[in-house]
Amino acid sequence: MRLETVAIHGGNIITDSEKPVIQPITLSTTFIHQEGSMIYSRANNPNRHSLEKLLASLEKGAEAAAFSSGNAAGVSVFQALEPGSHIIAPDDMYHGLKKGILTLFEGVIEATFVDMTDLDKVAMAFRNNTKLIWIETPSNPLLKITDIKAISSLAKANNVILACDNTFATPVFQNPIELGADLVMHSSTKYFGGHSDILGGALITKEKNAFWERIKNVQTTGGAVPSPMDCYYLCRSIKTLPYRMKGHVEHAMVLANYLSQNSKIERVFYPGLKEHPGHEVAANQMTGFGGILSFQVKGGAEAADKLISKLKYYTNATSLGGVESLIERRAASEGPDTLTPQNLIRLSVGLEHLDDLLEDLDEALK
Ligand SMILES: *Cc1c(COP(=O)(O)O)cnc(C)c1O
Repeated sequence: MRLETVAIHGGNIITDSEKPVIQPITLSTTFIHQEGSMIYSRANNPNRHSLEKLLASLEKGAEAAAFSSGNAAGVSVFQALEPGSHIIAPDDMYHGLKKGILTLFEGVIEATFVDMTDLDKVAMAFRNNTKLIWIETPSNPLLKITDIKAISSLAKANNVILACDNTFATPVFQNPIELGADLVMHSSTKYFGGHSDILGGALITKEKNAFWERIKNVQTTGGAVPSPMDCYYLCRSIKTLPYRMKGHVEHAMVLANYLSQNSKIERVFYPGLKEHPGHEVAANQMTGFGGILSFQVKGGAEAADKLISKLKYYTNATSLGGVESLIERRAASEGPDTLTPQNLIRLSVGLEHLDDLLEDLDEALK
């Protein structure tokens, strides 16, 4: 099956004897004891089973685990490590997960945050107790590109697990497992959900091994699992993921080109632009450059806020990956300790008509 077909059929497991075409929603928290049956909904339920099967197929992994948020998925990986483990993570890691490492695992997990585009620095960060290397590509909010194959070689040489946050790329544009990752993480809240109305997360493993069993234990015993409703709606949303991504990437490329030629804009960050420092690596490991871009506005934070306030079709809100365009001045969301430039605007390009998106920006920039 090709990706579009997997998206539609890969997660539609029919458990009802009436044979409905679409999977039923099973809200029951408990199941009648019988040989091989599910037992209790925290451990497993039919809709979660459908979603996990779908996610594993999309990411070409052996198995998936669904969580109640992207952060719950990410934190489960760190929880599954032995106390005293050291991890290497990106200096521009998704700020919520970086905060998780620094606050929830203080004194439990040691972390070194490095620029993942600098392979020498990454190579120097390994210690005797390094157990895992975490990457995120494209990254947030500067769309930096990490060379997954190159980092995978370093991880293998040092015998550590490689985990990749694939939220921005989605399996439509990038398959980290094929490029050498052992684990893939998603915030399903973003493109998988696609309509800004479901919170969710997921992990997909290349192979079922002892570390994966530890993660599964965190999932089912820790209990940060999604509801049957959320799992159902995610399966439903993912059916259109490949076609939504085609629209997002087409629009993002046009807007990136438009902004990079506008005199009021200082700099545009989009991996599809030839001048982007990660363009070549992105072109090698991705089949599309994604739907997120960011740009710096001349005139500082004030000018950036003013531009956002003039827009009609771009909603000033955090998050990304929905059919509606979202825009925000990123530093304002990340708080006072952020390294993000104050005049940087992140744009999650939606599926409104491209001409409306262009005209709205053009009008606001006049
Ligand atoms: C949103 C996001 C997360 C966290 O996911 P939640 O669903 O908000 O918990 C992690 N990584 C990336 C890249 C994200 O965009």
